[in-house]
Amino acid sequence: MNLAKKKDLISIIVPCYNEEETIPIFYNEINKISKEMKPVNFEFLFINDGSKDNTLSILKHLAHTDKRVRFISFSRNFGKEAGIYAGLKNSRGDYVAIMDVDMQDPPAMIPKMYQDIKETKYDCIALYTKSHADYSFVRKKFTQWWYKLIKTLSKTKQMPGARDFRLMTRQMVEAITSLSEYNRYTKGMFGFIGFETKWIAYDTPNRIKGKSKFSLRKLIKYAMEGIIAFSTTPLIIAAYIGLFFCLVAFLAIIIIITKTLIWGDPVTGWPSLACLIVFIGGLQLFFFGIMGIYLSKIYLEVKHRPIYITKETEKGSENYENKC
Ligand code: UDP
Ligand code: MG
Repeated sequence: MNLAKKKDLISIIVPCYNEEETIPIFYNEINKISKEMKPVNFEFLFINDGSKDNTLSILKHLAHTDKRVRFISFSRNFGKEAGIYAGLKNSRGDYVAIMDVDMQDPPAMIPKMYQDIKETKYDCIALYTKSHADYSFVRKKFTQWWYKLIKTLSKTKQMPGARDFRLMTRQMVEAITSLSEYNRYTKGMFGFIGFETKWIAYDTPNRIKGKSKFSLRKLIKYAMEGIIAFSTTPLIIAAYIGLFFCLVAFLAIIIIITKTLIWGDPVTGWPSLACLIVFIGGLQLFFFGIMGIYLSKIYLEVKHRPIYITKETEKGSENYENKC
């Protein structure tokens, strides 16, 4: 392949959390691909997201033997979104790809993605899942419902089944990193910043080794993040339902007063009244809860805490400017 006139640099960003088993396999594969793609240059930027296994020592060894390998090691587990942000912020490439290390985002697709981005007007070549052998029935259903829900609740476009796997231009990377919010939901952010994306469907293979790092609890938190970050519709629904109940209560008051004035006996109907009080009380707490969730997000934003904290890079642990 000889697409590049000036030597392009492609940055491959790889968030890793307890991935000692998969990093060597991924590195061998991406290294092979990079050789096939000469004269294009590569940098491999691994993010060690507070791993407890040998991930860091493997990355140190790779950085020692291959000067194209860089790494950022976090002081603790900050989550994949923080890893993606750190990678994008510190990447130097003309084109930047985000990839999972577990081979579910096959490195063999990079040449085709690079060819597409060079030969077309697209700013981004992104992948979405046609089928996902690895997912349980519950996770598949949950994902389908969630995409339907987010489509109804949010104006920001999101591709159902979108992976984080994508190759994008430097301009697009700058746009994403200019959104410096603490509560990050990158899939929605890509929709928000716009640009032209070409979507390619593929069958996502199984994780090559180890287990998924996303438990059901983490997935639900992530799904909530997506809704809260890109939609205020739950607050608006709460306000409308509140208004509806005010009207119903007003009508009921008029009916009860009229009935009492005509027939007397104001005591009848107290059980239904008790049920109504409990119901409305519950509803109020529920909506306070929704408001509380939004408020907690604002609280975290206004603190301006860093999205990640670096403990070490391939250059060592001293004098590192924490660009967060
Ligand atoms: N990951 C991470 N931090 C986390 C969880 C996951 O950097 O807190 C990385 C992980 O090492 C992998 C990618 O994110 O490279 C996707 O994770 P995983 O394969 O566990 O998720 P799934 O494919 O099941 O959604
Ligand atoms: Mg995976």
